[in-house]
Order: sequence, then structure tokens, then C-alpha cells
Amino acid sequence: MCPSDCSKRFGKVVVFIGLGANLGDSVKTIKSARAAINRIAGTRELAFSGLYRSAPMGPADQPDYVNAVMAVETTLEPLALLRELQAIENAHGRVRKGERWGPRTLDLDLLLYGDETVASDVLTVPHPGIAEREFVLYPLAEIAPDLHIPGRGPLADLIRNCPQRGLKVIDHA
Ligand code: ATP
Ligand code: CA
Ligand code: CA
Ligand code: CA
Repeated sequence: MCPSDCSKRFGKVVVFIGLGANLGDSVKTIKSARAAINRIAGTRELAFSGLYRSAPMGPADQPDYVNAVMAVETTLEPLALLRELQAIENAHGRVRKGERWGPRTLDLDLLLYGDETVASDVLTVPHPGIAEREFVLYPLAEIAPDLHIPGRGPLADLIRNCPQRGLKVIDHA
């Protein structure tokens, strides 16, 4: 029998994480981040999308991004998971500068945490950009085509309204 909150069966919740990199060897960084996420206690991979190449958002004078989306199940609470993801960013040479959407070795965004919504100073879930970013929606659809985004609707509908722009699959693990 499913307990009252089915999204957190037996203390585990399904989470989607967006990975992005555009400095250094981005493909290598994404693969290393995937392994590091798997090493987080109480967390294990369920699915990993292909690797995609996308044009940068914001400042255009920076390299293209390599992006992917990963599904994990975790026993961690949202904030604890965010802290783990930030530690992995830092371990991959992420330097926090003032510029919004500037170049970075590794960016890990917490896209979805079960069907929960979180709104705090440090964490917003679903991730605020999720509904209009091709480099999030297309990889998501690859690993979870039937997904429903809390407050935004079915993923398939969001995809239909989101042009692919320059997005290209470059590698399948
Ligand atoms: P964007 O969030 O638009 O993709 P970004 O990834 O470049 O931009 P960052 O500089 O990586 O932004 O993050 C800024 C802050 O966003 C982080 O310090 C974190 O506290 C906060 N944040 C809020 N919601 C989330 C989330 N769902 N996932 C990751 N960080 C989040
Ligand atoms: Ca683990
Ligand atoms: Ca981001
Ligand atoms: Ca981020």
C-alpha cells in the first residue's frame, strides 16, 4: 500500500537534476559530475539523458554549453541535496562571480523534487527556468516523456511551445 504521500514512498523521492558546463573539457566534467552525484549518500541514479550542445543564455561571448539531465532517487531533503550539488560544483572548479549566466565549469540545477514545490531564499523548485529552456526540456523528455511539471503542466505541452534552437545531441552514454 502506498502511504499518504506517494511521491515520497519509503522515504525516497525522485529528483531531476540539470547539468551544464561551458569551460574546460565540458564533456569530461559532466561525466565526472554524474559519478559524483551517484556518490552522494542516500542517492542513486535512475536515468541519464544524452549529452547535448546548446548556445549560451545571456552573455553571448562565451563557449557553447554541454547539457544533460539526470534522474535520481534520494532520501535527502531538498536543501541538503542542494548543498551536496553545490559542493560538487565547487569541487569541479566552479568560481562564483557576479555575472548572471556567465561561463562556468559546472552548473547543477535542482529541476524537480518529486511533485513538491519549494519557495525559499536559496531554493525554488520547480526550477524557475524549467518551462522555457530547450536544453532542459528536451533531455527531460528523453528520460521521462510522461512527466508533469508542478504548476506548469505536462512536459509534452511545454516542449511543443519551446523551439529547439541550436540544441544538438552530441553523445549517448
Ligand atoms: P539559473 O538559476 O537561471 O539557471 P544559474 O544556474 O546561473 O541561473 P547560479 O549562479 O548557479 O544560477 O545559482 C544562483 C543561486 O540560485 C544559488 O546560489 C541557489 O541558492 C539558487 N537556487 C534557487 N533555486 C535553485 C534550484 N532549483 N537549483 C539550484 N540553485 C537554485
Ligand atoms: Ca549514492
Ligand atoms: Ca542554471
Ligand atoms: Ca545553478
